[in-house]
Amino acid sequence: MKYISTRGQAPSVSFGEAVARGLAPDGGLYVPESWPEIPLSDFDGATTLPEVAEIMLRPFVKGDPVAPLLGDIVREAFNFPAPLVPVNTDGSLSVLELFHGPTAAFKDFGARFLAAALARIRARSSNSGDAKPLNILVATSGDTGGAVAAAFHQRPGVLVSVLFPKGLVSPTQERQLTCWGDNVHSYRVSGSFDDCQRVVKEAFVDADLRQRFELSSANSINLGRLLPQAVYYAATSLAVFRATGEKPNYIIPSGNLGNSVACVWARKIGLPVGRILLAHNINRAVPDYLATGNWLPRPSIATLASAMDVGSPSNMERLRALFPDVAQVREAVQAASVTDEQIRHRITEDFRNYGKAWCPHTATAAEVYARLASADRLGQRWVLVSTAHPAKFHEIVQPLIGQRIEMPESLAKLFSRPVSCADLEPSLAALSGALGKVK
Ligand SMILES: *Cc1c(COP(=O)(O)O)cnc(C)c1O
Repeated sequence: MKYISTRGQAPSVSFGEAVARGLAPDGGLYVPESWPEIPLSDFDGATTLPEVAEIMLRPFVKGDPVAPLLGDIVREAFNFPAPLVPVNTDGSLSVLELFHGPTAAFKDFGARFLAAALARIRARSSNSGDAKPLNILVATSGDTGGAVAAAFHQRPGVLVSVLFPKGLVSPTQERQLTCWGDNVHSYRVSGSFDDCQRVVKEAFVDADLRQRFELSSANSINLGRLLPQAVYYAATSLAVFRATGEKPNYIIPSGNLGNSVACVWARKIGLPVGRILLAHNINRAVPDYLATGNWLPRPSIATLASAMDVGSPSNMERLRALFPDVAQVREAVQAASVTDEQIRHRITEDFRNYGKAWCPHTATAAEVYARLASADRLGQRWVLVSTAHPAKFHEIVQPLIGQRIEMPESLAKLFSRPVSCADLEPSLAALSGALGKVK
């Protein structure tokens, strides 16, 4: 399998090259050159995430030097479950809990797969022992930095530098970004998220840094984060289809569209996925595009569902590569926008209705479900995709439900670790100096 850039101006590359590069050299995103069609019978007997992953991802790594190691990669990455939990009594509404990983958000799936794959890709490609250390630079507004730090923590030959905006992440998130130590270095930047991202982008094109380190990005446009996200849709859809003969519909809290494009890809290669609804906060570039046909990226607006505060979703490029015409996109997905007030209302309401505490992101999906016409609900199976554990956002959720939320064990463990972090000015010179001090 070869991967091509969505912008069509870069040479095609193998799976390993696409993952190691992140972004294509023409600024586009890597997508498969052709689409495998996997007959459902190929999945007979496969039920666990690693089992489904190995079958589903096999054509995507075909011909790459790491292909024989796919089994090891997926067993290492998918070492926690993605349970489908019933919400109502007749089984028509369930929640897919993607928050049972080390940092309690779905980004653990992508980050862990990327780390497991990258370790093996590098081991295959470095033919001498004196390879430069890999330095993964991450600018984060919250969840990504924690998931990437957790996935790469204590991996030999890899340094991770996490940049986050001072005072602009929640106390719980800051804790998760700074509790690692060892090969993970956290920088509290006196600036906005955009400043963090700008400094990281400048670092990637800086000749001096490139000479000292092999720089890599672990952000969500990396193919190695997207592909593994298709796996939980495959496993869930297979389980529902085998049990009921029906294809489940998904409602996905969306920001940069990585999670939803993964679901579209799963359906594209033949898995029994029904309708796909994207739930956005008031950053509504995608819902507006579907309504008007005009693609108008814009600056992001801060909301309660902060991990979805994306004004210009990068993975739109992948969606439009698959469906060049807006009419085709409309056929593939639908999208809606949810306000902060509606998020708050939905958290309170659904705790009363179902006894479930949603995180603010998951609440956007629950709100989109609540708006469905009864004809859409009748005789169909709907799955709310829960992208984070509510305890990660207890500052918001607890007052709304009037109850304490129990920390999952994985998060509690992180909270007992000592914190270490350095302050950083938002400039390339400051970052370069800081990286120079790292052993
Ligand atoms: C990143 C994130 C999202 C948005 O996912 P995308 O793949 O960017 O669309 C939603 N919820 C949570 C909790 C997240 O961390």
